[in-house]
Amino acid sequence: MSPVLSDCGFTSDVISIDHFFGTRQGPTGVQGSIQLGEVTSGLPSFPLIASLKQIHSTKIVVFDSPVEPGVMLDGEGDALLTNQPELLLVVRTADCVPVLLVDRKIGVIGAIHAGWRGAVGGIVPKAIQTCVERFGSDLTHLHVAIGPSIGPCCYEVDAPVISPLRTNYPDWVGVLQETTTNKGMLDLKKLIWHQVLASGISEERVERIEQCTHCRDDLFFSYRREGKVNGTMMSGIMLSAEIVSNTS
Ligand SMILES: [Zn+2]
Repeated sequence: MSPVLSDCGFTSDVISIDHFFGTRQGPTGVQGSIQLGEVTSGLPSFPLIASLKQIHSTKIVVFDSPVEPGVMLDGEGDALLTNQPELLLVVRTADCVPVLLVDRKIGVIGAIHAGWRGAVGGIVPKAIQTCVERFGSDLTHLHVAIGPSIGPCCYEVDAPVISPLRTNYPDWVGVLQETTTNKGMLDLKKLIWHQVLASGISEERVERIEQCTHCRDDLFFSYRREGKVNGTMMSGIMLSAEIVSNTS
């Protein structure tokens, strides 16, 4: 069992950036050491770790100045963005989609937790837009990696999901395979992929890891398969001090 999917993610270009999509085993020094909703001090490989109390929202927390370990002003939300070095941004998932983004040119990164509520609400395009507005990212420099989540093979949804999907997302037919009346198999990763492209990021800058958390019992926890108490995978990204100094 590999601890992290370190060879996946930002593969289409030569990008040396610390990032991982976790499996049942998180990376050493992170698993078990984070306090949700806080910035935690970590080991030398990850000096500071930021994670949120995830609430299935479209709320984004931005760190644009140096941070200290301890309680955050506002520790709830589902996306983290920063231009600060040596700060590992972590999201936790177990069927929902972890999304990582990076603008290496100006030194900005993001980690997003997107379940169906967040995805349909547009948390990923909102995070991309925040990179542009808050940090001055150019869409031609942003890379996005969409991590392992429950796949369309296993994710049957019903009216409470399908109804807002139809309302908010005109291309819903392309991501939902209807099975019976008011039921269907939803492809969450494809929905997010479409949204990222619609934001103006070109296809060759978007990676999508197709592994299904529900099918791959050997690698992943799955909320649907095991129930919510069993465990979550961590995914993270960090800017090195070297990258930040090269961009300023
Ligand atoms: Zn599956």
